[in-house]
Amino acid sequence: MIFTNPSGAPELACDECGCRWFDRMTNRCYECGADVPAEHIAEFEEALRQFAETRNTHVKQPPSPPEGEPDPR
Ligand SMILES: [Zn+2]
Repeated sequence: MIFTNPSGAPELACDECGCRWFDRMTNRCYECGADVPAEHIAEFEEALRQFAETRNTHVKQPPSPPEGEPDPR
């Protein structure tokens, strides 16, 4: 399952015991040893990416036109 922590960032947690001590080396929960399916990891990584994107849009300035770039023509 995917948690969202107080700062809004997604966190991967164990489906079995709900703990967040996930071992990335073995794709297993530290606490109960349950396997974390690859699709959950993919889901989590997607959630992380989306989170990073929302953060970027909040922080980033609107793109400015490139300066001093040679005209290709
Ligand atoms: Zn667990």
